[in-house]
Amino acid sequence: MKRLLYLKFLLGYLLFFVLGFLVIAFFSAHLTENYLLHSAGERLYNEACLLADACTPYGGTGANLNTVSPRIETVAGCIDSTAWLMDRQGQIVYDTARTDTGRQIADFNPADTGKAHYVTGRFYGHFSYDMISVYAPISGSYQIFGYIVLHLPVKEALSSRDSILNVVYLTGLIIFALSLILLIVFHRIVYRPLRKITVAARQFAEGHLEYRCQVHSGDEMGYLSNTLNFMASELSKMEEYQRKFISDVSHDFRSPLTTIKGYLEAIMDGTIPPELHDKYIRLVIAETERLTKLTQNTLALQSLESRGTYLDLTDFDINQVVKNTAAAFEGACLPKRITFDLTFPSRILMVRADLSKIQQVLYNLIDNAIKFSHNGSVIWLETSERFDKVFVSVRDTGIGIPKDSQKKIWERFYKTDLSRGRDKRGTGLGLSIVKEIIQAHGQNIDVISTIGVGSEFIFSLQKPSGEEGRRSPS
Ligand code: ADP
Repeated sequence: MKRLLYLKFLLGYLLFFVLGFLVIAFFSAHLTENYLLHSAGERLYNEACLLADACTPYGGTGANLNTVSPRIETVAGCIDSTAWLMDRQGQIVYDTARTDTGRQIADFNPADTGKAHYVTGRFYGHFSYDMISVYAPISGSYQIFGYIVLHLPVKEALSSRDSILNVVYLTGLIIFALSLILLIVFHRIVYRPLRKITVAARQFAEGHLEYRCQVHSGDEMGYLSNTLNFMASELSKMEEYQRKFISDVSHDFRSPLTTIKGYLEAIMDGTIPPELHDKYIRLVIAETERLTKLTQNTLALQSLESRGTYLDLTDFDINQVVKNTAAAFEGACLPKRITFDLTFPSRILMVRADLSKIQQVLYNLIDNAIKFSHNGSVIWLETSERFDKVFVSVRDTGIGIPKDSQKKIWERFYKTDLSRGRDKRGTGLGLSIVKEIIQAHGQNIDVISTIGVGSEFIFSLQKPSGEEGRRSPS
């Protein structure tokens, strides 16, 4: 498996490192330089102002220069700068460096600094390297006598720049080193679990549904892993279920086919005498009918499953459906002298459901009730209503269902031992179909049964929305 995600994250991290470093190198260096120049310029300007105040006695007269020059020397010495006293025409009257006294600065304009208090550069081409220069007027009696000009080499003003930048670089490095923690966290929390999940997904895709993904964290990764494991176990159950279904179907088809083949061979080779042919041909027909029923039921169940919850919902009177279905069984009841007792809470009881499917449910339940009832008994069919539900009950006084079988009767092909003797034609699919239909409606079905006493199957249905089930007096 390629470590693409890991590489991408690593590349992202390196890009962050390089870009971060470039930002620090250019942006921080520029900002630091600006800051240092500005603060040196301001400091120099303040000194120049104070010095200019102190030089008022100069009054523009060369004779007074000796009075102010010691002060100019002291200040220049203190702040390590060169100080000039210039007259109004731009001639240097006094220079602490002793090199430029008497020189004229052409084009000197004290307003050159603009809004700022200082200028940087070579000061009208006077110096051979960059200087920060500030001017402060020496004034008194409402006139300007000259200017105090202070110069500080830019190099000196920026002398602390490298030390400051070193601190910034070091801090940046520490931050990058700490951000390595992100990489470790990514590796432990995201990358490692994701790798395990990918391995598991591949195992499942290759059909190893018993494989389990070992990520048990309480976050989204853990949730994803649990979901995958759950999906695999469901798929494996389904596979098992399909296998069982096919083996059950084959088994149930084989036994009637074997019987049919046996009887027909016996008839053909004369083992069964001609006077008994009629009896055995009837048995063959009964087995064929069972095969037909088995095929129909299997197809019904299959279509219910493949079409999922598709239902053709309509509003209809459930009492009428119960009456009609019971009437359809009249012929089957006659030989066993079974009668129906119908109880309805009102003449009409409306429900919202798939009519043909509910007919099928009633058909299967009444068919079972007749099959497992004793001769001459009564089958009670009852509807009742409670809140927004309608309940339909089919009750018999037949052989009953053992307690431990009551959960299994809903499974496909399941038949209780008690019923096997009585009902050889049963397929064991009727109640599976019933359960499937009721569940597709989002409703419930239950059974109450006692051996030797009888069974009652009750299922619920939904009343039509917006009405409490239309009633009319019975
Ligand atoms: P079958 O076609 O065999 O009736 P069903 O799925 O309808 O299949 O029923 C499954 C089993 O449940 C039956 O074989 C029988 O053992 C039991 N059963 C269903 N209904 C009744 C009932 N009313 N009384 C007793 N046993 C019943």
